[in-house]
Amino acid sequence: MIRKRVVGNWKMNGSTAVIGEVLDQLRTERYGAEVSVCVPAPYLHLAVDKLAGSPFQVGAQNVSEYGDGAYTGEVSARMLKDVGCKLAIIGHSERRRYFAESDATVVGKLARVLEVGLYGIVCVGETLAERDAGRAEAKIESQLAQLHTLMARGAGPDRFCVAYEPIWAIGTGRAASSEQIASMHEWIKRCLGSSYAVLYGGSVKAGNATEIMSIAGVDGVLVGGASLDVKDFGEICRAAG
Ligand code: PEP
Repeated sequence: MIRKRVVGNWKMNGSTAVIGEVLDQLRTERYGAEVSVCVPAPYLHLAVDKLAGSPFQVGAQNVSEYGDGAYTGEVSARMLKDVGCKLAIIGHSERRRYFAESDATVVGKLARVLEVGLYGIVCVGETLAERDAGRAEAKIESQLAQLHTLMARGAGPDRFCVAYEPIWAIGTGRAASSEQIASMHEWIKRCLGSSYAVLYGGSVKAGNATEIMSIAGVDGVLVGGASLDVKDFGEICRAAG
C-alpha cells in the first residue's frame, strides 16, 4: 500500500522559538504517513537540524525558476537541496495571486526542482467564480497542461505530485465537499495518469481529516493553518495512517 502524504505549509508564520518548540515535539512522534513540514526559508536550516534522524522531511514553500546567479532575493533549488530540503511546494495559489506566477513559471520551477532531485508538489485550484461558471475542470486541465513537457522528459510519479487546492477553500474554514474532491481528483488523475499522487488542500482540520483522507483518489493532504498547531497537525497525521 502506498503511504499517504501529509505536508504542513507554515506560510509566512513562525519564529526560531516557535518552530524549534513545535519540531522538538514533532520529532518524538511516529505516523504511518509520510510527513513533511514546509517552513519559511530563513528557518529551513533550523528545521532540518531539529528533524535530523527522524522520519520527517523538510520542504520549501517556494523556489526560484532560475539557477544560481544574479537574481537578488531568490533561493535556488540547489540551495534548498544543499541545506537538506527534500521537497518544494510550487505554484501555491498565494504565489500565483500575489506574485503573479504563471503556469509557465510553475513549470520552470518544477524543472529546477527535478534537476537537483527534490520532490515537487505542484498546486492547482480554481476560484469560486470559475467553479460557479462550470469551468473548474477546464481551469485545472489548463494549469496541468504544461507539465506534460516535463513528464515526456521523464518526470514520473516518484518525482512530483499535484495538490488540488480550490482557492475558495484555502484559509476560509470551508473545505470542498467529498463529492467535489473525489470528482476533481479523478479528473486530475485522468489528465496526468492514475499513478500520480494527488493531495487535497483547503481548510483541512483535525475534525475533517479522517473523512477527507478516506475519499477515493486522495493520496494525502496539504495543510496550512492547522499545521501550526502541533496537536491538530498530529491528529491530521494520525488520520492519514
Ligand atoms: C494552504 O495554504 O495550502 C492551505 C491549504 O491552507 P489552509 O489549510 O489554511 O486552508
